[in-house]
Amino acid sequence: MKTIVEEAKQLQEDLVGYRRALHQIPELSMNLPMTTAYVSSELTKMGYKPQEICQSGIVVTVGGKKTGKVILLRADMDALPMVEEADETFKSTNGNMHACGHDFHTTMLLGTAKLLKQHEDELRGTVKLMFQPAEETGKGAKTMIEAGVLENPKVDAAVMLHVITGLPIPTGIFCLPEAGPSTSAADRFEIVIRGKGGHGAMPETTIDPLNVLSHIHIALQSINSREIAPADSVVVTVGMMSGGTTVNVIPDTAEMMGTIRTFSKANREFIPERIKAIAEGTAKMFRAEAEVNIIKECPSLVNDQSVLDSVEEALIGSFGKRSLISMRDMMPGGKIMGSEDFSFVGNEVPSVMMGIMAGNPNDGHKYQLHHPKVTFDEAVLYRGAAAYANVALHWLSKNCK
Ligand SMILES: [Zn+2]
Ligand SMILES: [Zn+2]
Repeated sequence: MKTIVEEAKQLQEDLVGYRRALHQIPELSMNLPMTTAYVSSELTKMGYKPQEICQSGIVVTVGGKKTGKVILLRADMDALPMVEEADETFKSTNGNMHACGHDFHTTMLLGTAKLLKQHEDELRGTVKLMFQPAEETGKGAKTMIEAGVLENPKVDAAVMLHVITGLPIPTGIFCLPEAGPSTSAADRFEIVIRGKGGHGAMPETTIDPLNVLSHIHIALQSINSREIAPADSVVVTVGMMSGGTTVNVIPDTAEMMGTIRTFSKANREFIPERIKAIAEGTAKMFRAEAEVNIIKECPSLVNDQSVLDSVEEALIGSFGKRSLISMRDMMPGGKIMGSEDFSFVGNEVPSVMMGIMAGNPNDGHKYQLHHPKVTFDEAVLYRGAAAYANVALHWLSKNCK
């Protein structure tokens, strides 16, 4: 496994080139024409025939000359709608930004494509490379699954990698979760309150939806504090409240929207029920009506023990035992309240999410993901490419008959 790492090091200059090219053309959600053109062109140069199985979703396979199983490696390619404030010579100027490091993931998987192509004859099975759009909007993985990314050939296991920056942990170290859930499910709620508008000086002739909305906002806080076991991790956040246009008019309606984050199936069902009951009950108490919509967005990402064991062995074999840190040592409970749409893949096949430290505050990388000034350490690019490749090689040889 060491040789792949050495070969990946030789690619480092190419990888920096890919990354800077991608960093300057950040695109959003399902609409990645420049990014996918770049990725397809580089894959074609390596001898692949990239297939766009849905809008901005690219798949290639490598291996298959020896019989064996199929492992999928996933990189997301989309950026965020924010203006980059990082002081880089290659910074984005189009109003979008790769603030979540997906340009790194795409680059690393391109590196993996190159490495695996050089070892194609040795692969004991097939590696499928999934270049995915719309992770940030939660649509990409689901759309690619619907377009058949897990079929033809059928995928038996899947692994993803995410960069982490701005934390005082040595650069290049890999972070592994424990088996079980590591990111939360994310669902959305929307509440519309219908009252009766009128003159602000004559509230007795109205049913004020802003008053109702305020009571609902306060009442929602007690779900987490009074109805969920303290040892469970859940979030109910109201991120938007709106209603009214001026000082002396009581509006007809008002609305709020928010996000629910949970790990267990029970909480994922219980909290929406309680939001609905609280909103409807409070509205009724004040003579108004509430319309509540719950939109299921993204399940919790569950890591598989057997794939996890294989990933751990591959990383130790490639980079040594000291190159690993447990997610439990980085964050409370070893879980993230954020969500990751790779969970849709994890719902279908045994999967693992791995992380790599890609920026240390001591080296000037002070900001974390999604910050307009966030920066990343390009020195880790070859490590990501080699990790993906060795994880696949090791899992395939371990699982061949
Ligand atoms: Zn992100
Ligand atoms: Zn991300």
